[in-house]
Amino acid sequence: MTRITPQPGIMDIALYQGGQSHLAGVEHVLKLSSNENPLGPPPSAMEALRAAAGEMHKYPSTDHTALRAAIAEVWGVEPARVICGVGSDEVLQFVTQAFAGAGDEIIYTAHGFSMYPILTSMAGATRVCVPETERVVDVDAILNAVSERTRVVLLANPANPTGTMLPEGELERLADGLPPYVILVIDGAYAEFATGYDGGITLARARDNVLVTRTFSKIYGLGGLRVGWGYGPQDMIDVMTRIRQPFNLSVVQLAAAEAAVRDRAWLERCTTLNIEQRARLTGALRQLGLACDESHANFVLARATDVAEADAAEAALNAAGILIRRVAGYGFPEGLRITVGDAEQTGRVIDALTRWREGAAA
Ligand SMILES: *Cc1c(COP(=O)(O)O)cnc(C)c1O
Repeated sequence: MTRITPQPGIMDIALYQGGQSHLAGVEHVLKLSSNENPLGPPPSAMEALRAAAGEMHKYPSTDHTALRAAIAEVWGVEPARVICGVGSDEVLQFVTQAFAGAGDEIIYTAHGFSMYPILTSMAGATRVCVPETERVVDVDAILNAVSERTRVVLLANPANPTGTMLPEGELERLADGLPPYVILVIDGAYAEFATGYDGGITLARARDNVLVTRTFSKIYGLGGLRVGWGYGPQDMIDVMTRIRQPFNLSVVQLAAAEAAVRDRAWLERCTTLNIEQRARLTGALRQLGLACDESHANFVLARATDVAEADAAEAALNAAGILIRRVAGYGFPEGLRITVGDAEQTGRVIDALTRWREGAAA
């Protein structure tokens, strides 16, 4: 070797593209491009964060005992089987890095979360992307793609950006159908928005090949704080803990997340609002001739008939000061992913698109 060379895979990584947050010339943009909570952060978490700020001179807990205990209490899991990370992205990094490397394969699906190919290359592993069926994850396509080299399957349920989800029976069939050396990761970033769904926790409790990940970034309104967690078999958690930095979460992150998870009224309030406005937005989009699947998350993926129509719809929203997410990178050049806002925000989206349709008809 004659020069400094990055590890294999690293140069295959295209930088992650976040949702846009600025519109030229607009002062108060309505940002519906990153699936953030329209109600902001929970006041309980802000209060805990302020109190913890006075402890910033001390190193944080290395084992996250208090936060894991709170998670365990609220979600009915064993605290020893919980691992916390800097967002669930870090937990996903623990599992891919600890269990896959050069020569190994990681499977994800055609419209899967854009972090999955990045995480695969970060681990030095090979990307295996399998098709979906009508924007829904296809269990058989995944099982057919498994080889001796497969180590991890990454799956979001509900999925981003489609908002679709697999019923528990299908998740179970997938977990049972994988060889014993393959880990099934069920990314539950949007689990709380899906009615009657436990995020795969029951499945993970009983199996030794299932890891569930969860986040404080979506329903809890703490995307800027960066806290997530995973729940899996004890052996798997113990392996992942070896590569977790001992002080990965700060005193303020730990305190705010613990207050948020204990704030059940907040969860209830946010879920109710989302379900209500999601149904309203979905109905209105369909009425306006934009196709959308039933979403189980806090966003709706609207599909225009072609790219030109999607461009025009986006331009109309931007003109009204509203930012949404285009999802060409996810295989939907004609798609517009719109975060579900509160009643007033959803009203603004519907009004802007209605005026756009009326204008086009005139
Ligand atoms: C937003 C999101 C996450 C959460 O990432 P954090 O690191 O916890 O903020 C994970 N998976 C999917 C599919 C997401 O959309």
